[in-house]
Amino acid sequence: MVTPEKKFPLVLTAHPRLARWLMLEYNEQQKNKKAWETPEILPLSAWLKNFWLETWPEKHILSNIQSESLWEKIVDADHQVKSLSVLHKKAVAIQAQKAYSLINEYKIPLLKKNFQETLETLSFFQWAESFEKQLGHWGAIDSSQLMDYVCESIEKGKTKLPTKIYFKGFDKKYPQLQSLLDAIQRKGTQTELPDLFLPESEGSISHISVQKYDDKNQEATTCARWIRKNYQPGKRFGVIVPDLKNYHSILQRELAAELCPSSIFPENKTELPFNISLGSPLSQITPINLILDLLSTPSCTIPAGTFYSIIKYPVFNLENEATIAIETEFRKQRKFNIDISDFRFSLDSEKAPRFFNLMVAWKSWVLDSNKFLPNKWAEKISFFLKEVNWPGKEEKLTDKENHIFESWKNCLDQLASLNSILGPIHRIEAIKNLSGIAEKCFFPEKNRDHLIQVVQLDEATGMKFDHSWVMGCHFEALPPSPDPNTFVPSEFRKRHQIPHSSAKWELENCEQQLKRISTSSKDIVLSYPLQDGDNSLEPSPLIKKYPQDNSLVLPSARIKDQISNSIALEKLDEEPYLLLTGDEKIRFDRGQMKGGSSLLKNQADCPFQAFSRFRLHATNQEIPDTDFDPMVRGNLVHRILEIFWRKVKTREQLVRLHKTGQLEKQLEILVKQAMEKFSRALTDQKEFLKLEESRNIKLVFEWLVQFEKERDNFTVLEPEKEETVNLNGLSLTLRMDRIDETEGKKHVLIDYKTGEANPSEWVKERILSPQLPLYATLISPTAVYFAQTKKGGMGLKGIKESIKNVGTSSIQFVGFNKPVHFSELLEGPTWNNLLDFWKRQINGLASEFLEGRISIDPAQKQNTCRNCDLNPVCRIWERDDGIGELD
Ligand code: SF4
Repeated sequence: MVTPEKKFPLVLTAHPRLARWLMLEYNEQQKNKKAWETPEILPLSAWLKNFWLETWPEKHILSNIQSESLWEKIVDADHQVKSLSVLHKKAVAIQAQKAYSLINEYKIPLLKKNFQETLETLSFFQWAESFEKQLGHWGAIDSSQLMDYVCESIEKGKTKLPTKIYFKGFDKKYPQLQSLLDAIQRKGTQTELPDLFLPESEGSISHISVQKYDDKNQEATTCARWIRKNYQPGKRFGVIVPDLKNYHSILQRELAAELCPSSIFPENKTELPFNISLGSPLSQITPINLILDLLSTPSCTIPAGTFYSIIKYPVFNLENEATIAIETEFRKQRKFNIDISDFRFSLDSEKAPRFFNLMVAWKSWVLDSNKFLPNKWAEKISFFLKEVNWPGKEEKLTDKENHIFESWKNCLDQLASLNSILGPIHRIEAIKNLSGIAEKCFFPEKNRDHLIQVVQLDEATGMKFDHSWVMGCHFEALPPSPDPNTFVPSEFRKRHQIPHSSAKWELENCEQQLKRISTSSKDIVLSYPLQDGDNSLEPSPLIKKYPQDNSLVLPSARIKDQISNSIALEKLDEEPYLLLTGDEKIRFDRGQMKGGSSLLKNQADCPFQAFSRFRLHATNQEIPDTDFDPMVRGNLVHRILEIFWRKVKTREQLVRLHKTGQLEKQLEILVKQAMEKFSRALTDQKEFLKLEESRNIKLVFEWLVQFEKERDNFTVLEPEKEETVNLNGLSLTLRMDRIDETEGKKHVLIDYKTGEANPSEWVKERILSPQLPLYATLISPTAVYFAQTKKGGMGLKGIKESIKNVGTSSIQFVGFNKPVHFSELLEGPTWNNLLDFWKRQINGLASEFLEGRISIDPAQKQNTCRNCDLNPVCRIWERDDGIGELD
């Protein structure tokens, strides 16, 4: 039965993208009219489904996710694949599902004798039998069988057919499609498949050029600029990419940056003017990836790192202060795992309601060990997400956020449809299924169509463009390697020339596609990259017949290039001084600030550092490491040695302890005592503390025996002594690590360093690390040392007075060589001159600070900046002298 003739014939397309494209092209052609008739253009799959539903069928169609889950269940139940990993089983099930579609498309009878070829084909036969048995039991059909059922309905005349149907985008007639065409024609409907017949190339004059680029980035950037250059309203652009997976993110980035430069601003919500096929899986889109992470938390004991990243996910919009406080506290406790069922942090439900709700909901979610049907899990997930404030109710959702939320709901619907297949399941299994669904849901699912399309090679069939760029035409991608489905016996693969089954098929298919592109566009660029990572690439043999052209060099439209091209930067000289206020003068004179000698160190390193820290009070909100960080380790060694020398006092006693074998025992007691404070805070980290304890005992033992014991006799006067000094209005409180007294009643100044120590910094035109020189000016010692207690690099490093003849003193360098310009810095190389030099330097630094010198002037350029966290304040990287370019 045929319906009366319409003005437009029905158009059925090979895939939904083509249907949307044809509709867009048609609407573009009509846009000067006031009203026009809407043609009927739809994907064949949608038409078949509508047709089937119109016949009031007894059997329902299994959704794709239902079919996939059924295949997974069947494959999983097979004892032969029991030993495979979950991922492998999933891949097997997907491959089996594809094989089932192929045997339906190519009408390969599901008979045992046809599948005897290998163990794989035989297993597939058994799975397919179980699959069909289950379909029969449910009164369902698979979507790959739908065409056959529709044929039957057409034969029985169950619904009306139009007089003419165009089939667009079909470049091959597989047996199932042929049967459909036959059935339609037998009912008197005319059918046409224009894409099956390639137009003769002689008639069309296309300009085709081959261009090579250094890499994919350059190729994609140039293509984006080329579109911009040739753009005119109504013109159609096709970017055709054989290996689109590899180019997807680069193209997304480059097209957005060049075609819609303002899209880089987060507040910009303009829709991008192009469509890219193969969207990203919803499971990889933020916040869905984060939500899936949270939902799949396996137990209440969560690795600390995972916990910190989850509470910092912006999607849950937790209270900042509470988040930082909790992380800092747990890190201080050196927690490796956080138990959310025993959350030892008092959370105020009024001050931090969102954090509080998250913890309550998260705990009850993870503790849910019941089995429920998938639809119940979908409900529970929605409820849980509402509890944790997603999507937030505070602000209106943007279009994209709305899209994501809609896609997410669609995934939950799909999960809910699996009741009869999965039955009651546990939470983790439900989330595994949901993640699988989100992986197959490509985002954005729906978007407005644009005249700039990025498609895969096969998708270009049926599409006409004014300008086409075929990208990535290198020998590895064009033609690609074959990918035969080994569940289909090789005899049938060969007989029917099933797609992707052989290298010959791939080659012919690519040749045909290129030929089709060359006749469906007037201006074509074929390009390839010379390099992909470390891989050198050659052009595909299929494009060698076309003329090679120079690579295009086109101007950029990016915001940053626009700015730098159009504006000559203005140079502003910063004020190098900012005088101290009256209040500041009083504060510094009275020493009412924290930090002591570090003020001079900062001033020496970079005046702006001292200004930021001591006048602007810039602090870094430091969150300690879970492991002991270097600073804590350094303090611990200081503390152990302080306690040790308070008790042991002299070198002779140290020697005695060592001789009698008491030293190690003493150290065990002292290290425990020094670590008491840490042990109290880390009661549940026993193993970790034990390790740290034994590490410290070994380290200090080695230091005492190999270095302190080998020195001349000394007495330790006052470890960690505090002194206050006023340098012409700058009052500093100092804490000296150690002062030793020699047998000749001379003083030796010692500062412990658990990292690398560099005493050559004391004898420079501008001294760095002025702490020890400052102490030296106060007590006039005869030696000044860094005691470097670093594992694998221990030693005393410093400067001492050397008296060869009575009355003549000189300077001796211990543990390092005489610095190059040393002699030029002192009037004569005597100890007193060195002390005078230090005094001048220290006073100079103090005066600089008090005079208000604040210049951004790192003493050792990049080396100083590398260890400084103030670069967001000083913006050193914006300078054009290269100092800010840290590696
Ligand atoms: S980053 Fe460099 S320039 Fe900036 S304050 Fe620190 S040391 Fe000075």
